[in-house]
Amino acid sequence: MSTSEAIRADAARLLAEGRAKLVIGYRARGPHRAPAFVSDPAGVDVLIYDNLCKQNLAVYLRKPEVRSRGPVAVVAPPAVMRSLVVLAAESQLTEATVLAVGPDAYHGVLDLAGAAALLKEKYADLAPSPELLEALAKLDAMSPQERARFWTDQFAKCTRCYACRAACPLCYCARCIVEKNVPQWISTAAAQHGNFAWQIIRAFHQAGRCTLCGACEAACPQGIPLMLLNLALSEEVAKQFGEKPGYDPAAKPVIGSWKPDDDQGFVR
Ligand code: SF4
Ligand code: SF4
Repeated sequence: MSTSEAIRADAARLLAEGRAKLVIGYRARGPHRAPAFVSDPAGVDVLIYDNLCKQNLAVYLRKPEVRSRGPVAVVAPPAVMRSLVVLAAESQLTEATVLAVGPDAYHGVLDLAGAAALLKEKYADLAPSPELLEALAKLDAMSPQERARFWTDQFAKCTRCYACRAACPLCYCARCIVEKNVPQWISTAAAQHGNFAWQIIRAFHQAGRCTLCGACEAACPQGIPLMLLNLALSEEVAKQFGEKPGYDPAAKPVIGSWKPDDDQGFVR
């Protein structure tokens, strides 16, 4: 049985038994993949899974229109399962039914605790792609001036469409800082000053929370290498705090916690 067939069978069973009222998975839309919202066991045939499925479907779980139709089951590869664990750690999710997909295996239906256990057992060492690691090594080898020029050129392309924000399950503030205008913290014009502020604030708010799912970069119409920024900060968090988010639903996020022995060398 293929992964897509196994997902369809489990989705139909969950819906028929009432264990889920809605299954969120992937469907084909031309050569692309789009989210599928299935509430009838007879409708599961649209569900597919392959390596074109890039969207992080955990993004829908906090939406009131989805919550009101729960219980919801979601198709989740490891990075999406990690997002669910982060959302639970941040008290944004208390339970989830997960149709757990691995790179080479389908793991069936799990609850949140089961997904966290699976991640620790089988996906503790998820590595970024070799291309991304190579790009980060190149960035690290640049002088500070070269690196500043690189990001200035990249951020100049940003049109402030916020598709990256909409694609990320961890960007869930009811009102984002870029939309606050009394006082206005960040210029909303798609120009250098505001673009830098937006990109840096987005990246820092994700530091120690980002699960490197790639959904933000896949959504960016300008081709800005957001994963490079995400990975640079993830590596720094791992180095400074020894934290890897998305494995422990009880873990406190680095950005929202502190320890007395945290390095305070930055205080001058
Ligand atoms: S910042 Fe991007 S890569 Fe990180 S969790 Fe959000 S969508 Fe995924
Ligand atoms: S999706 Fe791309 S262009 Fe749009 S706000 Fe995000 S970084 Fe800028």
